[in-house]
This record gives sequence, structure tokens and C-alpha cells, in this order.
Amino acid sequence: MNISDNLSNIQALLPDGVKLVAVSKFRPVATIKEVYDAGQRIFGENRVQELIAKRPFLPVDIEWHLIGSLQTNKVKHIAPFISMIQSVDTIKLMQEIDRQAKRYSRTIRVLIEVHIAEEESKHGFSPDECRTLFAKGVQDRYEYIRICGLMGMATFTADREQVCREFKTLKKLFDEIRAMQGIDPSLFAELSMGMSDDYKIAIEAGSTMVRIGTALFN
Ligand SMILES: *Cc1c(COP(=O)(O)O)cnc(C)c1O
Repeated sequence: MNISDNLSNIQALLPDGVKLVAVSKFRPVATIKEVYDAGQRIFGENRVQELIAKRPFLPVDIEWHLIGSLQTNKVKHIAPFISMIQSVDTIKLMQEIDRQAKRYSRTIRVLIEVHIAEEESKHGFSPDECRTLFAKGVQDRYEYIRICGLMGMATFTADREQVCREFKTLKKLFDEIRAMQGIDPSLFAELSMGMSDDYKIAIEAGSTMVRIGTALFN
């Protein structure tokens, strides 16, 4: 099977309203172009250096999403063009994104990363920290940031029940925040969860955005 077959097979499994982020990390420009030519427009990279090295060789109407952990000192490199930063896991990072977005007179869309996995290695705010952030009005604090929703990763495990539980926990948190006073549910509308191995479970649990690399490019 070729990549455009992979793309149409995956797209056929996505319900209306669930967006595909094609995770193109480690993939060469020519391969990314192939997926673009098959109609895909949203691509995700997890490293700033790799993203800024490849982007000049690719069509300008690609919507780039940063999905990996981001150091504050690298925000300035992506601020002029990034479409969404999905991996916001500290206040310091939000402050810097706001500052850089202002310099370029743009609004940068972000997702708050929530730690739902049992693994220690995963980044993100805890569900409780996340509730507190919104209860204290984080959504109104930064003029040049729009908080569009939440992002999370399940534990890397063969235990499907566990993965399902973790996604449901995140969905519940998402719904709870969406219903809070002071949150506009039309702006806070994205729940990014699900990768190659678990995107079907994530969709069942209410994902609006899946991030798929391996299943698309291999
Ligand atoms: C690599 C990566 C993905 C995609 O993983 P696959 O298993 O290749 O689909 C999704 N999200 C994040 C944050 C990643 O780093």
C-alpha cells in the first residue's frame, strides 16, 4: 500500500468533525509533499529545528502544528507561522507564546496539554491543575493566545481498557471545562487525543483531532 491509500483508509475511519494531524516528524520533504498532494493540509512536528528546516521546501498553505515539548527559547522561531501549539505545559511557555505572538501581531491557537498517562515521562498539567487554571481565568489572560482545547497522550501499553479509561478521563475534564462559566464552547472546542495505535479508541471516547504518524507514513 502507498501513502495516499493509507491516507484515504484513515480518513474513511474518521467521523465528521474529527480532524487528522499528519505527524511528519522524521519524514523527508518529498514524502510530506506526497501526502500534501493527496489532499492533507494539517501536519504536526515535534521538534522546532526539524520543522523550520523542512518548512521552506513545502507549500505555504500547510497548517503546521507543534505537538512536542517546546522550550521557551525556541518559541520565537515558530511564532511567525505556527498554526497551533498543542503542547502547552507550563505558564512560562504561555507567557512566551503570548509575547512572541504580539511581536508578529498574530493570535496563536494553543491546546493545554494534560497528563493523563500513568507514566512519569509524559508532560502536561494534572487534571486538577488544569481545572484551577481555567477557574482562575487563564482563557482571558493572554491577549495573543486563543486556548482552543486540550491535548493528551495515553499510557504506552497493550492494555486497551487502561487506554480507554485515560481517554475518557480527559474527555470528562474537557466537557467540564467547556461548561464552565467564562468559557466560550465555540472557541474551546478541540480535544486532541489518539495516535496510530490508539486513535480508534480515542475517537470512541470523543476525540476531535487525531495525531497520526506511523499508520500514515509506513
Ligand atoms: C510522534 C507523535 C505522534 C504520532 O505517533 P504515531 O504513533 O507515529 O502515530 C502523536 N503525538 C505526538 C505528541 C507525537 O510525538
